[in-house]
Amino acid sequence: MPRSARSLDVLLAQINAAAPHRSKVSDGGIADARHLAAGTSDHIPDATGVFHARDFTHDPTGGFDAHAFADRLLAEQDPRLKYLISRGRIGSGPAGPRPGVWRRYDGENRHDHHTHVSVVSGARGDGARAWAGVVAAPTKPSIRPGTTRPIPEGDEDDMTPEQDARLKAIEVQLLGPDPSKPGWPQLGGRTLVDALAVVLPRSEEAAVQLLGPVKGKPGWPQLRGRTLVDAVAELLNRK
Ligand SMILES: [Zn+2]
Repeated sequence: MPRSARSLDVLLAQINAAAPHRSKVSDGGIADARHLAAGTSDHIPDATGVFHARDFTHDPTGGFDAHAFADRLLAEQDPRLKYLISRGRIGSGPAGPRPGVWRRYDGENRHDHHTHVSVVSGARGDGARAWAGVVAAPTKPSIRPGTTRPIPEGDEDDMTPEQDARLKAIEVQLLGPDPSKPGWPQLGGRTLVDALAVVLPRSEEAAVQLLGPVKGKPGWPQLRGRTLVDAVAELLNRK
């Protein structure tokens, strides 16, 4: 019974877990008629009945950008990787030509709708540990694009527990009770900054809160003449 190299089973499971609703319309495993006609392909089982390639559908709206994934996998240079083909590019693993560098791919199919992954044969290709680079590394804290910039991460070793707690409290004030999902229920799901952006043009009081009591001269006496944002920024950047 033909089977997939184990490392590809692991990769498929990781991708499916990361994007459970992705399209699989251009997915492929064992060689179909088209591959067989071409003669040589890692999709064709070898003498031991193992095939060494899988295709993964490009479906960014479904949660899987196959070409961004290809960039990450190529950069990781896992020893199990033989080569990748993605959007008119081919790139090799550590044992191939110019490892980790995309080269132009002149094959008949540019691979716009899927990324092809070939793994090495033998025991190494059956290595079943998880692949790095399947999903993009998360940014901490995660922020909705276009709402607020992430708060710079403090060097925690240099902060006292009190400073650390104060920073956490400020983060909550700015982003809401769950920093991984920015927004306050009282502000209609907005972050503090987004709520101020809505209200500022039409509220003198909000402008005063943000800028200080003297019109045309931003700053608060209590904050040694700083605006609220500048005062918070100084605290955040303090090492
Ligand atoms: Zn393929």
